[in-house]
Amino acid sequence: MHNNKFKTMAVAAAALMSVLLTSCSNQVQQTEKSGTAGEISQTSAETTAEPTTQISSGSSAEPTTAKPLNLVEDLSKYDLKDGDSLEQIVSKMENKYGIDIVYGNDIRTEFKDENETLRAKPNTNDNEIAAALKDIDEGLNALPKGFIKQLPYGKHKILKMYLTGPITIDGVDRGGVPAFTSDSDEELYLTIEVLEQGVVNVPTVLHELTHIIDFKLHYDGIINEDDWSKLNPEGFAYDNSYGDSLAGKKDPKYCYTTDHYVGHNTDNSNDDIWFYYCYSKVNAYEDRATMLENLVVYRIWNYEIAEGLYKCPHMKAKMEYYLKLIEKDFAMNGSDRDSWADAFRKIS
Ligand SMILES: [Zn+2]
Repeated sequence: MHNNKFKTMAVAAAALMSVLLTSCSNQVQQTEKSGTAGEISQTSAETTAEPTTQISSGSSAEPTTAKPLNLVEDLSKYDLKDGDSLEQIVSKMENKYGIDIVYGNDIRTEFKDENETLRAKPNTNDNEIAAALKDIDEGLNALPKGFIKQLPYGKHKILKMYLTGPITIDGVDRGGVPAFTSDSDEELYLTIEVLEQGVVNVPTVLHELTHIIDFKLHYDGIINEDDWSKLNPEGFAYDNSYGDSLAGKKDPKYCYTTDHYVGHNTDNSNDDIWFYYCYSKVNAYEDRATMLENLVVYRIWNYEIAEGLYKCPHMKAKMEYYLKLIEKDFAMNGSDRDSWADAFRKIS
């Protein structure tokens, strides 16, 4: 069912840290109960399928005023330069992406929903925050112009990006949570853990952004999970539980690989692959977020985390379908659209 009441946490980057995610089985059960409760259909009725054309100014230094989305604007004035102060970096990125960046002691430290509480400690090291922002900028910069500005949906007018220190779940230090977001909060936020020396997990940041894309696709009534499930194997159902895939019980059936960052390690032939890795089978949101990560990383750094992933015909079909939904809901200029299509063509 529609998973519209869950806190989405990133899959840890095994290469960077051995992170564990919370077991969310109770969340999903609750989601199943509430999944048809009408929040999505209700909200989708309120919105138009037309791409958003009015956005709010992202600058936190000025009052928020609506200004038209400009998809051909020359944004080079916001390019980060060596020697930029943290304040300059923040200001440029806020203007470029239309987001609100919050860091240091100004962060929100508690993110609570009905199932769990995530707590973040501040990171007050300006050099680390600046280094993290440069890496995040590299990631966001690979997205089509104006894309991030279009993410806020419904009551949300702006995406808040919290840059924090260590994050714990329900008071337990699980070795870090690289990033997380939620669709059941007063704010639309993306919280990112900045580790020592400013290390951030950029693919996970993009993974979380994919969840926000999905929140918007649902809100706007663009995505239909029943239609989506038709792209999966006959008789397949998502686990709807985070538990097993995080507890090491990983069933490689239909998967390209068992885990993030380890290459194609299953015996499945390309024709028998419908999912990137085991975590992708938790629910449709994780499926799409993991699937898109590979393309986004290719856009940023010109290599695939999962080489040949979209050469598997079912993966290709799912990705094509998803990209079409995104195109339907997000305005983008012609050159960005072509460039993304071209990138996908090259690796599929
Ligand atoms: Zn996720």
